[in-house]
Amino acid sequence: MDERELREFWHSILRALQPVIKRAEFLTWFGNTNVHSFEGGILTLAVPTIFYQSWVNNKYLNLITAEAKKLNSEVKSAKIIVDSTLMRQKKDTNITALEAPQPKPVSTTSSPTQSSGKYEVQEVSGNGSSINPRYTLENFVVGQENQLAYAAAKAVSNSPGSTYNPLFIYGGVGLGKTHLLQSIGNAVLKKYPKKRVHYSTSEEFTNEYIAMVQKKRASQFKEKYRNLDLLIVDDVQFWARAEQTQIEFFHTFNALYEAGKQIVLSSDRPPREIANLEQRLRSRFEMGMLIDIQPPVYETKLAILLTKCEEKGHLLSPEILEYIANNAGTNVRELVGVLTSLLAYIDLQGKMPSLEDVAHIFDRSMKPEKPNTAQGLRQSSAPMGRSLNEQDVLNLTAEEFNLAPAELLSEVRKREILVPRQLAMYFMREDLQFSYEHIGEIFGGKNHTTVMHACQKIAEQIKKDKLLVKHYNAIKRALR
Ligand code: ADP
Ligand code: MG
Repeated sequence: MDERELREFWHSILRALQPVIKRAEFLTWFGNTNVHSFEGGILTLAVPTIFYQSWVNNKYLNLITAEAKKLNSEVKSAKIIVDSTLMRQKKDTNITALEAPQPKPVSTTSSPTQSSGKYEVQEVSGNGSSINPRYTLENFVVGQENQLAYAAAKAVSNSPGSTYNPLFIYGGVGLGKTHLLQSIGNAVLKKYPKKRVHYSTSEEFTNEYIAMVQKKRASQFKEKYRNLDLLIVDDVQFWARAEQTQIEFFHTFNALYEAGKQIVLSSDRPPREIANLEQRLRSRFEMGMLIDIQPPVYETKLAILLTKCEEKGHLLSPEILEYIANNAGTNVRELVGVLTSLLAYIDLQGKMPSLEDVAHIFDRSMKPEKPNTAQGLRQSSAPMGRSLNEQDVLNLTAEEFNLAPAELLSEVRKREILVPRQLAMYFMREDLQFSYEHIGEIFGGKNHTTVMHACQKIAEQIKKDKLLVKHYNAIKRALR
């Protein structure tokens, strides 16, 4: 095979793999993978780091070999080598060409400045605002939930003041709002070093304004803010009731907007849901681009974990990463927190944790405030001398997960509630021997097939999810 044939062969393999591998994983693992050679029946592929090598070997080598054999009978085996020059290369553009034009890339490019782990806070434009260089668009992992926000942040960074103005990003805690806002600041400063960029939270803005007014330097405050090219205000939901500050911000906003300067805002909720926000500010916020960030799905969580591992120069087995992605909630800060605890464990112990260790570390870092229920510290317990009823199951399950019983009965489909809810259904079926129909009624009139499905799901999960087993055992003990 000459080079061109070799590449085409590799691309036909990729085309065969693509439908059977989850999209995010496909992009993550094969975006930087290249074909190296085909000699003596051995197809050699190259990946950028040993981290990739371990992962692709573990998860995809059999699949790759099988597809390669199907396409070319001369193939005997495949192997993966490391070629570190792939690190610095752009992703194989042909990968993108293979893709249907769905605008949902999972970017795992990490900025080279991240590797030190430390960062300094850089003062910008001498006005006391600080943009943290740690947060960049390059190290923001893009998944379907934040893809629009990311695209808007990028557009605004490329031409501040002329695309989406104001840009208003909202979403729950720990979903990357501050990261994106700071990235915009960094990107603008990189592209236009002379532009005046200011980042503050709404609280900082308020405090600064009040302090300046007290010092009778309100005009200085005005001058500073109204001469900016890019004003970023984070967490505007905290603007509650600071009326005078809101008026000041309103004028600042108008001055900047009319001068064609960019304004970027974030909040944990859309403007219409921010209590105490002045009507005219609300309508200003709503006149630009409003974009929400949704909680990350499994693939995005996995991609974030991978990126962070690479940044920190660590190698974790696919099983461990999958375990974390599967069991973590959707707060990325917590997700990264669990990973950090794990990496600290590895550094301290000098060995890879077992899945059981991981479950333990995971449990500790996710719920630090939680008493050790296994030691009998729980407040409620099963009734003495009467048989168990559904309320006991609800109470004990809720307590084990630090939830309210009513949350178990609610319609909320967040994983943190969904799994405990399913577990409660499972206990009602297995321990109370209720019919699926009856359990469905208890949970607000759910169909019996929904309950059946939930019970099957738990029965399956219990086989492989050690953390769930721990919860299961704790509740089971309490029910006795
Ligand atoms: P928010 O402001 O929405 O509460 P942050 O921006 O502070 O959330 O994010 C919490 C942490 O998670 C930060 O360390 C951030 O870098 C990280 N993070 C969140 N989303 C992503 C993402 N998509 N890619 C990489 N890191 C992320
Ligand atoms: Mg934030």
